Amino acid sequence: MTKRIFRSICLVAITVFFASLILFMGVLYDYFSKVQQDQLKAQTALAAHGVNLQGKAYLEGLKNDDYHITWIDADGNVIYDSDKKEIGAEDYLQREEIATAFKEGYGESKDYSTWFTERYLYSAQKLSDGSVLRLGANQYTVPMLLVGTAQSISAILLIAVILSLLLASGISKKIVQPLNEIDLDEPTADKVYEELTPLLHRLRSQQNKLKKQDKALRRQRDEFDTVTGSMSEGLVLLNNEGVLITINRAAVGILGAQSIAVGENFFSLPNMASLEELFEESVSGKRSEKIVEISERKYQLDASPVLSGGKVSGVVVLIFDVTEKALAEQMRREFSANVSHELKTPLHSISGYAELLKNGMVKTEDVPQFSNCIYSEAHRLIDLVEDIIRLSNLDEESNKVQYEKVDISNLAKDIIKSLEPQAKKKDVNLSFEGADVVIDGIPQQLHGIIYNLCDNAIKYNKPKGSVSITVQNTQEGAVLTVKDTGIGIPKEHHERIFERFYRVDKSHSKEVGGTGLGLSIVKHAAKLHNATVKLESTVGIGTEISVTFPFF
Ligand code: ADP
Repeated sequence: MTKRIFRSICLVAITVFFASLILFMGVLYDYFSKVQQDQLKAQTALAAHGVNLQGKAYLEGLKNDDYHITWIDADGNVIYDSDKKEIGAEDYLQREEIATAFKEGYGESKDYSTWFTERYLYSAQKLSDGSVLRLGANQYTVPMLLVGTAQSISAILLIAVILSLLLASGISKKIVQPLNEIDLDEPTADKVYEELTPLLHRLRSQQNKLKKQDKALRRQRDEFDTVTGSMSEGLVLLNNEGVLITINRAAVGILGAQSIAVGENFFSLPNMASLEELFEESVSGKRSEKIVEISERKYQLDASPVLSGGKVSGVVVLIFDVTEKALAEQMRREFSANVSHELKTPLHSISGYAELLKNGMVKTEDVPQFSNCIYSEAHRLIDLVEDIIRLSNLDEESNKVQYEKVDISNLAKDIIKSLEPQAKKKDVNLSFEGADVVIDGIPQQLHGIIYNLCDNAIKYNKPKGSVSITVQNTQEGAVLTVKDTGIGIPKEHHERIFERFYRVDKSHSKEVGGTGLGLSIVKHAAKLHNATVKLESTVGIGTEISVTFPFF
């Protein structure tokens, strides 16, 4: 802006200078021409007086270099010419000033040289004898005057230009300085130029509007970030070219997209092939979904096109962790298959024995033995069905749990009492140690935990073995420990014995009346209480299983 003002001032100054110079010269030229013409007239009158008195002798006696003097008689013949030129009579009689002088007594005219470099002024006066005396004078034309004074004019022009530059530079800086000093945050705080006040007020109101819009946008973005940031599902928003617009924390974690920034092409990330396929489908306007495995977990990707003005402007991808769902699905399938298999075996035995009895193929003395087999297989079936019911109850109860104060020491003592006959039968000694420990829990499920652990400790024990049950309060919470001196569990089975229907030795488990569901019930019930189960076991020495119930 400063430059522009500077240039404008310079241009104006120089234009005004030239225009003034030309006008000034024009006016002066005109004025001096008139003065010269008047002088010429006066000189002509003087000369005419002299010639009237002395005739040609007056003219010849004149010392004159300035004027061209011509004397013409009434017929147009030249009586005297100061330039001694031979000019025909017709030429002179046709000249305007001479013709007018003959007619009116006085005449004058102006004339230019061939190249307009000079101007001639003529003044003619009629004498008493009827002849005409004419005086002519030279004068430079304006262009010639300019050429003649070029040096001086150039010097003046140079001074004028320098002065213009200096003044223009100073003035332009002075004009612009207040504009540069306007505080854009507070445009109306200082009075700069009155003419700018409406503009500054407008600027201020625009600024206020922008601030409000910015604040609203920030608030919206913060709200959006808070909502999407706290989502456990992943959210990715891409434009229709695959450029990342937004991604929430969960999606960054799931997709390992820490290295990508908003505004970059999302598919520049490695291992995004499945997401790219979904994106391509959605960009063509279709909603699509897919289940993919990332870092040993299963995720469902849902991609939907974002439409604006009937066109797909982007794609929103939601990522759900379906690992538990898929696992539960798989477990349910396996469980159904296992249940059918487990139920089928005792049912087949019962049906086989019963068929033999029905067809009278069993000797009378063997009937009690066959009946006993049917009885024990039926019992097995009952145990199995009871355990299955207990497990499905656990699944249901995980949704509507009712906690109450339970003294687990008393519960353990009651269970030990109920298991005494079984222990005696196996020649196993049961002992209890512990103070009163009260926890918040579900009595039925806590019973399931203690019963199954003690039952296993007796079942998988050796004759003359022992089972010690302890209940105590520790810093981590209430701890129930069931320790036996039984057969132990090989290390490779430690992880899996809590799975449904998993048994280390299937035939031994069946022999001792196991269903393969006891420890599953323990694990499930412990989970309902946020309890952790710890197993330590050495083959041939014994097993110790402890359950820690954290304090709420
Ligand atoms: P089961 O009804 O067959 O006992 P569980 O789920 O209770 O089923 O136990 C799973 C398997 O873990 C058992 O079949 C057994 O092989 C092993 N097991 C459980 N508890 C003990 C223990 N105290 N000592 C040795 N083995 C055990």
